[in-house]
Amino acid sequence: MASEQRQALTQADGDEIKRLYAEGLSLREIGRRYNRTGERVRQYLQEQGVPRRSRSKPRTAPPSAEYLARLERCRDLVLQGCSILECAEQLGVGRSTVNDYKKKLGLVRPWRKDLSSEQFGRWTVIKLGEYVDSTAYWLCKCECGTKRLVNHHNLVRGYSKSCGCSKRESLKLRQAKVGAPQAPSLVPL
Ligand SMILES: [Zn+2]
Repeated sequence: MASEQRQALTQADGDEIKRLYAEGLSLREIGRRYNRTGERVRQYLQEQGVPRRSRSKPRTAPPSAEYLARLERCRDLVLQGCSILECAEQLGVGRSTVNDYKKKLGLVRPWRKDLSSEQFGRWTVIKLGEYVDSTAYWLCKCECGTKRLVNHHNLVRGYSKSCGCSKRESLKLRQAKVGAPQAPSLVPL
């Protein structure tokens, strides 16, 4: 019987459904108006390429007073100079939780060690250039004058020792030793 009452949706119905959805009406409620299930309305909207509505209500409960107190206590401890382990013991939480707290509190320093004015090969570090995805990029100046941002790990592990000029120089030197420059033999077409 229900299928007899159910008529194909017209363009106008479709527009109305989209409007109701955009207004925030639940899928079930929209379905009831058109004698369809909420699931069918969801499918219809998907077919029409209507993006899913973002949840208006936050899914997580507001932070508890206890949690906020712990966060504040963590701030005090960090500012007093306590290590992560000491904070964890004081707060009765794990070390990773302390790290999370520190991030939330904005107490994580961009990089533990300031490499400014240190030398790595031909690089001299000028200052911290960028901090992307937990990785520091130091603004460095090569002996030849080239300035560049160098990844922290590449710098301290010695993967990057210059802007590339030392490689170019050693190549020249090698070629000079061999004699005539080893130009690639070009075959004219
Ligand atoms: Zn260079």
